[in-house]
Amino acid sequence: RGKQLLFCLLTMAALTASAQNKPIKKRVDSLLKLMTLKEKIGQLNQYSGRELTGPASNRKNNLLNDIRSGMVGSMLNVKGVKDTREIQAAALQSRLKIPLLFSLDVIHGYKTVFPVPLAEAASWDMEAIGQSAHIAAKEAAASGIHWTFAPMVDIARDPRWGRIMEGAGEDTYLGSAIAKARVLGFQGKKLGATDAVMACVKHFAAYGAAVAGRDYNPVDMSEQMLHEVYLPPFKAALDAGAATFMNSFNTLNGVPATASSYLQRDILKGAWKYSGFVVSDWGSIREMVPWGYAQNLSEAAQYAILAGSDMDMESEAYKKELEKLVLAGKVNSVLIDDAVRRILTKKFELGLFDDPYKFSDFQREERVMQDKSHAAIARSVARSSVVLLKNELNTLPLKTGIKKIALIGPLATAKTDLASTWTVYADTLSMTSVYEGLKEKYSPVAELTYAKGCNLNDQDTTGFKSAVELAGKADVVVMVLGEAGDMTGEAKSRTDLSLPGRQEALFRAVKATGKKIVVVLMAGRPLIFNSIAQQADAIVYAFWLGAEAGHAVADVLSGDYNPSGKLPVTFPRSVGQIPLFYNYLNTGRPISKEGDIHYRSAYMDSPNSPRYAFGYGLSYTSFDYSNLKMSTDFLKKGQDLTVSFTLKNTGEYTGEEVVQLYIQDKVASIVRPVKELKGFEKINLKPGERKIVKFVLPASQLAFYKPGAGWVTEAGAFKLMIGSASDQIRLEQTFNLN
Ligand code: BGC
Repeated sequence: RGKQLLFCLLTMAALTASAQNKPIKKRVDSLLKLMTLKEKIGQLNQYSGRELTGPASNRKNNLLNDIRSGMVGSMLNVKGVKDTREIQAAALQSRLKIPLLFSLDVIHGYKTVFPVPLAEAASWDMEAIGQSAHIAAKEAAASGIHWTFAPMVDIARDPRWGRIMEGAGEDTYLGSAIAKARVLGFQGKKLGATDAVMACVKHFAAYGAAVAGRDYNPVDMSEQMLHEVYLPPFKAALDAGAATFMNSFNTLNGVPATASSYLQRDILKGAWKYSGFVVSDWGSIREMVPWGYAQNLSEAAQYAILAGSDMDMESEAYKKELEKLVLAGKVNSVLIDDAVRRILTKKFELGLFDDPYKFSDFQREERVMQDKSHAAIARSVARSSVVLLKNELNTLPLKTGIKKIALIGPLATAKTDLASTWTVYADTLSMTSVYEGLKEKYSPVAELTYAKGCNLNDQDTTGFKSAVELAGKADVVVMVLGEAGDMTGEAKSRTDLSLPGRQEALFRAVKATGKKIVVVLMAGRPLIFNSIAQQADAIVYAFWLGAEAGHAVADVLSGDYNPSGKLPVTFPRSVGQIPLFYNYLNTGRPISKEGDIHYRSAYMDSPNSPRYAFGYGLSYTSFDYSNLKMSTDFLKKGQDLTVSFTLKNTGEYTGEEVVQLYIQDKVASIVRPVKELKGFEKINLKPGERKIVKFVLPASQLAFYKPGAGWVTEAGAFKLMIGSASDQIRLEQTFNLN
C-alpha cells in the first residue's frame, strides 16, 4: 500500500497542473520514470481506427482494450470530434493517462478539397501553397486531428509512378521551397495552436525513385544522387520545423528504408540533429520479411528499432516482439526510452497533457467546417495551379462574339474525380464541375451545350456522332479529357500514359469538324497526348484542382484569370523517353541540334527533347526580359552574387510571370547537370509595367555533393541563365567562382 501511495503521488507530480510550468524535457523525464517497459512499448504502436468507429468487430474490443491499458500511442484514420473524444477517453482510462495522437492523411485539404500537391506545385506560389496547407490543417485540427501525414516531398522523375501526384514534381530546389511552405502552412510557427497540425515529412527516403515507376519497387542510387537530388527537400522541411518524419516502403541499395540506420540514425538523427520521431510507413516493418531482409517479425522489429524507426504503424511488430527482444538483450532499453521520449515530447508540445480534448471541440468543429471563406481560397489556389500549354492565334480567352459553346468529353461533368485520391474525408458533394463553372460564367450571354462523347475507360464510340453534331453547331468547342481521378495515387502505376479509352479518337473526330478546339486536360501526372498537342487550338492542363475546379477552369477560359502556372515536371513525348528531366547530364556525344543523331546520344525514332519542358507555361500576355546585370564576374567563396534584370509586360493583359534562374557548372570533378534551378519568383505586372527583378545567389548554392567529402564548391566558370522555362532561356552570362 505504501508503494501504491508513493506511485500515486509521483503520478500526480508528473501529470498535474503544478507540473505544467516545468520545461517539457523535465516533464517527459518524470513521466518516463513512471513507465513500465510494456507501457513504453505501448507508446510506439499506431493502429488504424477505421474498425473502431465502424460496425462492431472483434478487433474493436481488442483494440479498445489495448488503448485502455496504455498499449497504444497513436491512432490513424479516426476523425471527427465525437469519435476522437470517445477514443481519447479510453486512453485516459489507462494507468498513466497518456493521451493518444490522432493522425490522418490530410494531403490536399480536409473538408474543402484543394488541388492535388503536384497541381499546386505548378503555381510556383509559396503563399498560395502555404495557405492551402493552413486551411487543410485548420479544418483537420477542428475535427480532432493532431497530425497529418504530409507533406510528401519525394522527388519524382517518373510519371509512370502514381504517387507523382502527391509531391512537388521533379526539381530539388522547387521541391525544397514547397516543402518549407507546406510545413509552415500545416504547423504554423509553434506546435500547440488549435488551427494547426503536426506535419510528417515523407517518405524517408528516395521512395520516388522506384525502379520503372512501379510503386514499392527497390531503389538503387548513388550517394551523390541521394544527397544532392532526393534529400534536400527533407532537410528544408526539417529546417522549417517539421515535427515528424515517416520512413518508406522501398529499399535503398538493398536495405529497406525502415531498417536503414544510414538514413535514420546517421543522416536524420545524426548529421541533421533531428529531435522529433520517425513513424514507419504502413506495415513497412513487417514488409522486411517478404523483402527477404528479415527471417521473421521479431528480426524485423529488431532491425527497425535499431535503425531508428520510433513508431510502428500497423505492423504489430513492436507490440508482439519488442518486449521479448529487450528481455533477451537484443535491443537495448536505452533505444526504447529514446523513441518514447521523442513521442512524448510531441504530445507535450501539442499541449495534450494539459488538455487531451484540446482539438476536439464540437463548437469549433461546426464553425470551421462551415467557413465559407475556405472555398474562395480553394478557388484562388486552383486557378493559380492551371498551366496553359498551347494557345494558337489567341484562341483563349473565350471572350467576345461567342454565342455557342459545345462542351464535350467524359470529364466535363465530373465531380468526384476532381478530388482525385487522398480525399476520403472530403465533402465531394460541393465540388463544381467544369460544366457548372462554365454555365455560371457564360449564361445567359452564350449557350452551353454538352455531349459526353465517350466514357473514360472503354472502347465504345457510339457517343462520337452526337458530340460531332454538337461541335458542328458551336462557335467553339471545349473538350474536357484525361485520366479518371483514381488512376493516380498510391499503387497506381501505369505503363501507358496516353488518355485512357477512346478519348484521343474522340478529339480527332471532333477536330474533323474544323471548329476551334480548346482541350482541358485533367490528371494527376503528365499524360501523353500527341495528336492533341499537335492539333488542338488551345490546351489547358488542369491536373486535379479539387472542389473549385469548375470555377477555376471557367475563370481561366474566360480570361477573368490570366493563367500563370508553370510545369513542375517534364512532359515526355513517349513512355520510352522516361525518365526524362531537365537537369540531366550531358554526354560525350551530345546532339548539336535536334535531328543530328549520327552516332550521337539520341533516339532513332524520337527527339530527345520533351513535349513540354520543366518550368514551361504560357500566359495571355507576353513578357520581355532585358538588361541582365551581375554584381561581379568573379565571385569569391562565401560571397553572394547579386543578379538583376528588367521584366516588362509587353502584352494586353495583367499577368504573372514565374521568372527562373538556372546555373551550369561548366567543368567540375563530377559531371554537372546542363542546368540547375537556383531561384525563382512569381511577379505580377500590368500591361506596359516593368520591374527590376533581383536575385541573390549565395556561392554556397553552387556546391555539389562529393562522396567522401560532402558538399563542396569548386572554383571555375559558371553559366547563369534567366528564363521563362528551363528550355526558354532569355538572358545569360558567365561568371567565375574563385
Ligand atoms: C502510405 C503513406 C500513408 C500511410 C497511412 C501508406 O500506404 O504510403 O503515405 O501516410 O499509408 O495512410
